[in-house]
Amino acid sequence: MGLTLYNTLTRRAEPFEPLEPGHVRIYMCGPTAYDRGHIGNFRTFCAGDLLRRYLKWKGYRVSHVMNITDVDDRTIRGALAQGASLREYTEPYVEAFFQDFDALGLERLEHFPRATEHVPEMIELVRRLLERGYAYIAERSVYFDISKFPDYGRLAQLDPSQVHEGRESSDAAYAKEDARDFVLWKGGPRPEEGEVAIWDSPWGPGRPGWHLECSVLASTHVGQPFDVHMGGVDLIFPHHTNEIAQAEAGVGVPFARFWVHSEHLLVDGRRMGKSEGNFITVADLLQQGYRPSAVRLLLLSAHHRKQLNFTFEGLRDATQRLDRLLDFRWRLRTHPVSADAPHSGLLGLVAGARAAFEAGLDDDLNVSEAWAALFNFVRDVHALLDRRPVLRLSEREAALELLRDLDRVFGVLGLADAEAERLDPALERWIEARLAEREEARRRRDFRRADEIRQELEARGVRVEDTPAGPRWKWASGA
Ligand code: AMP
Ligand code: ZN
Repeated sequence: MGLTLYNTLTRRAEPFEPLEPGHVRIYMCGPTAYDRGHIGNFRTFCAGDLLRRYLKWKGYRVSHVMNITDVDDRTIRGALAQGASLREYTEPYVEAFFQDFDALGLERLEHFPRATEHVPEMIELVRRLLERGYAYIAERSVYFDISKFPDYGRLAQLDPSQVHEGRESSDAAYAKEDARDFVLWKGGPRPEEGEVAIWDSPWGPGRPGWHLECSVLASTHVGQPFDVHMGGVDLIFPHHTNEIAQAEAGVGVPFARFWVHSEHLLVDGRRMGKSEGNFITVADLLQQGYRPSAVRLLLLSAHHRKQLNFTFEGLRDATQRLDRLLDFRWRLRTHPVSADAPHSGLLGLVAGARAAFEAGLDDDLNVSEAWAALFNFVRDVHALLDRRPVLRLSEREAALELLRDLDRVFGVLGLADAEAERLDPALERWIEARLAEREEARRRRDFRRADEIRQELEARGVRVEDTPAGPRWKWASGA
């Protein structure tokens, strides 16, 4: 079966084939290093991880790149406010990004280039755009002339009559219907930015615009044209629209073939965002005792083209689903087996689940279908084990192998195992604090409170056992 992907460029689901047989090249817009990323950002990065892992599962080699924006209006303002250099200011946020990235079990990509490491290539693209007549210099800055690029706005399906005269003044996103010439190079130094980010160029000192960074980092690291460009839906316009214009006008060949956009994570019906003030980070959730594997399961629970509303109830539900999987694996591992027990039909369930998993993901990465394939398998095999006190060994091995195989894509069982071996310090502190509080309640003979705490722990998948040597805890799933 072949993968089809919905392509924003054509507004259709299309069969996916990489340009180079067997090798898929992906570029994804990454974080801006001015604050810690929230779980909305990580929902989008999880969608990238899903595509990456699924392509690998299907046998493709993947070259996958994500930029780190370490120079833009916000990083410059932040550095200036702290009296730090751009590098000093952005570095802790870059480190936090990798911490969260690893915590969620996202596979490290082949490259994470930083914008500031590629300014000479950006200058080169601006030079080409000037040379080819797609750009002009005004007040020491360089702008892209969108009237020279007839295809401008195709990705966003812009109506040409909504394209306005004049120039955009900042690289912050501007109003959706207000497409204007956008800045490629911002002449400087500007009074409000000081000398924080200044590079020399043939048309004077300054710094690159945000859109330019991604066009250049993509073509430098994955080549042009390449297979898939990813990012959140908020980036379709102006960011991705402008990336296409610069890259195609400057290089003279198409930029990306497939544009895969993921929908937002919401809180109370509103987009989770740094500017909305409603954001939650991965670190916040770990400090509250939630397991990274449960957060991953939640962020990967819905199809990437559907909005997902974040609630703590949903997160507790994801924790339970994770525990269902771990319990199931535990039951399989400990179920009595013998090499010559009669066949039970389990191999048919394995094949069916694998086929349903693949059919789901082939259909535009429909991950909900893939989860359903797994959870139906869990339900059916539980029923089968109820009927079979002894299972044929080879069947048990095939069922366990299926779990491992599907988890190469889902990545939650592997992550839960890693957590059991090396507990996240924030999570461990949370659990220890709850246990101490429970002991304290028991000493006061406040058994209702002690019981509440036990339930709170259970909701996170932690089971408390009272032994003669004092209370101990373990993961409820026995993993
Ligand atoms: P930023 O650091 O804001 O530039 O965003 C990095 C990535 O996260 C981009 O691909 C955004 O589209 C994406 N993103 C931002 N907010 C959300 C959200 N609430 N839900 C999902 N993705 C988001
Ligand atoms: Zn980008």
